[in-house]
Amino acid sequence: MANATVEVKGAGGLPITVSTGLFIDNEFVPALNNETIELENPATGKHLATVSAAQKADVDKAVASSKKAFQTWKKTPPTKRRDLLHALATIIEKRAPEIASLEALDAGILFNDSMGLNVGQAIENLRYFGGWADKVDGETLHIPEGFAYTRREPIGVCAAIVPWNSPLMITIWKLAPALAAGNTMVVKTPELCPLYAQKLGEFIVEAGFPPGVVNIVCGLGHVAGSALSEHMDVRKISFTGSPGVGRQVLAASSRSNLKKVTLELGGKGPSIVFDDADWDNALLWTSLGITVNNGQICVAGSRIYVQDTIYDKFVKEFSARTAEAVHGDPLLPETTKGPVISATQRDRILAFVPRGKDSGAKLLHGGAAIKKDDEFAGGHFVANTAFADVAQDAPIMQEEIFGPFASIAPFKTEDEVIAKANDTSYGLAAAVFTRDIGRAYRVTEAVEAGQITVNMWGTVNANTPFGGVKESGFGRDMGKDAIEEWTNVKAVKFNMMKL
Ligand code: NAD
Repeated sequence: MANATVEVKGAGGLPITVSTGLFIDNEFVPALNNETIELENPATGKHLATVSAAQKADVDKAVASSKKAFQTWKKTPPTKRRDLLHALATIIEKRAPEIASLEALDAGILFNDSMGLNVGQAIENLRYFGGWADKVDGETLHIPEGFAYTRREPIGVCAAIVPWNSPLMITIWKLAPALAAGNTMVVKTPELCPLYAQKLGEFIVEAGFPPGVVNIVCGLGHVAGSALSEHMDVRKISFTGSPGVGRQVLAASSRSNLKKVTLELGGKGPSIVFDDADWDNALLWTSLGITVNNGQICVAGSRIYVQDTIYDKFVKEFSARTAEAVHGDPLLPETTKGPVISATQRDRILAFVPRGKDSGAKLLHGGAAIKKDDEFAGGHFVANTAFADVAQDAPIMQEEIFGPFASIAPFKTEDEVIAKANDTSYGLAAAVFTRDIGRAYRVTEAVEAGQITVNMWGTVNANTPFGGVKESGFGRDMGKDAIEEWTNVKAVKFNMMKL
């Protein structure tokens, strides 16, 4: 049973062998009690693979491995840590089609999108944070007795809990800065789509990381995720996922060892279109903002507010642009839309359609599952859906749907749209479209969000901090802020008068 594997076919028929065990101490091993999870291909609804499911005892084993590795890793020269992160980036770059195919097969992400965004972001972040490894410095300060300086020290064994919507990218957002700063890490992968990380484990060995620096466990949230959140030897946990589970992780920290917690939770992003905006650019980004990855993106521009003077024309052209899509095999370049992650998620999204109608909003297009009559007949396809004239208090304007589901409403004035944009418990991302720089400045200042883009939507960059405010969570991935998140500050003070 040691290092059991499964064979799958990726883009262009690429044969891929994936280890199915838990990745602990640089080896793939079965779960101690041989528990497994069955994986489905969401594009076909058919069985894809069986992988090991970590239980509490497996999590303990992974944490013990990372605890041991930390003693050496924290003292490993930063330039060596940099070289290992860069080596991992190079391997991912060379073998990108394998990892992108795996995201297509178990997460339903379009192969081309995974290659461009998820794999691209993984490589960019590994290189960016590799560069940080030898720059994690403190400050020198004057005090009456002499001087003080601060050290940014690694925290210890850290954990990442990852959702299913962009799993490789989100894993690397956490792994790269944590390792650069000298921490070791246990990654809990999403139980619906862990195959990308099974391949990542293989690449980590090939890059030359010592055993235990990274351990990767797939497992159910309430079993493996919960065991990590409660663990007394885990010193920091970075969670990306739903607000409800985020609260549970925070409560587990409070019950256990008060580990540091970073929460990247959901969103209900406003895209605000003023009548002076570049028309084609605003249409392009607002359309992408709610259709890319089937809208299963935390920064999705799911609330679209359009100035009343251009509202009717915008609604018509937005609908014409987004109503149609080519649903099918995520591995094929001609497919423009893959499945949503699961039948449960499909049903959850579609349950908002009657709620939208009941609120008095007008269904522009979509609102139903797509039925295919070929080998993808069992796939979980959802038509792009949009409602216009949506009331501010309608559930489809307030709740995160996490699907290809746009809620559009008109506004008259800048003050009105700012108030509407902020009328939500979330505060992750927002976008504003205008050519008036004064208005762009005022709106970006007034909207409560961790990120706001002007004349584009949802871009992410390794050097730019990413995270939320309000109930979208706290803490930041990426940028210099991430290095601060993954270190503790120690103040060292010298009394020079007694030397
Ligand atoms: P989820 O909260 O159901 O699961 C996220 C992860 O938490 C999974 O690995 C799951 O196994 C684990 N988990 C579940 N129960 C747990 C528990 N009791 N203790 C510890 N871990 C547990 O979320 P999801 O459905 O996988 O992802 C969708 C959600 O993620 C959406 O709300 C979306 O907005 C959010 N998200 C946020 C960001 C961001 O950066 N802000 C990015 C992507 C997704």
